[in-house]
Amino acid sequence: MKLLVATFSLFISLFYCNASAIIIGSAEIITVPSDTIKSTKKLNITKSFVLGKFDYKTDSTFVKVNTQYSAKPVYLKKHVYAAFLDMHEAAQKDGIVLLILSGTRNFDEQKAIWERKWNAYTTLQPLQRALKILEYSSMPSSSRHHWGTDLDLNSLSNSYFSSEKGKAIYDWLISNANSFGFYQVYTTKENNRTGYKLEKWHWSYLPLANPYLEFYNSNITLDDINGFEGFEMAKELHIIEDYVNGISQQAKDYN
Ligand SMILES: [Zn+2]
Repeated sequence: MKLLVATFSLFISLFYCNASAIIIGSAEIITVPSDTIKSTKKLNITKSFVLGKFDYKTDSTFVKVNTQYSAKPVYLKKHVYAAFLDMHEAAQKDGIVLLILSGTRNFDEQKAIWERKWNAYTTLQPLQRALKILEYSSMPSSSRHHWGTDLDLNSLSNSYFSSEKGKAIYDWLISNANSFGFYQVYTTKENNRTGYKLEKWHWSYLPLANPYLEFYNSNITLDDINGFEGFEMAKELHIIEDYVNGISQQAKDYN
């Protein structure tokens, strides 16, 4: 009985403390890095998910955004939507109205965007074509928009955020968004950030997006990025290294 109580209390303490461990068989204890637990147990991340190959409209962890907050039908991860609602409310109290222009996009939707642009820049050689698209758009299976964690807010033009109204919105986001979990990931490239150009409109919910990126980096290779025109360019352009991971240092350091 004593042994049973001891085992039980050990289990309880393991269950509730941060140092994650699992009990195998009767006594063997294996320590598992907490990020593995976070990735595979709590968040239930899969390769298909991070590659955008799933249907967010039927996924119970996603929710449709109320149309009053978006310019078109938008879906987000439930946690992200809850955080956005909090942020939207706080912004509104300061006279700022946040509007979601884009949220989750799956592989097929990103493929449609990519191939429309691919077939528009026919005068360019394949490498230049891809580089032109990659100024602001991702290759399918390499977009943070697959994850339901990333939002495009108010305008898809950096110059808008220099206008009086746009600057007020951007300044508010810079001062307040981080406290709701949202970070601008495609910041100025002056600090050696690689990948996409500056996007003042793109905000990422890092409490979820960072574990997803961690999973992506541990499980996805260039062999997983295919199924659309021009995918062969992914290798030469270091899509995973320079684009998927081409985020601000602050975002990389977030945990
Ligand atoms: Zn975006």
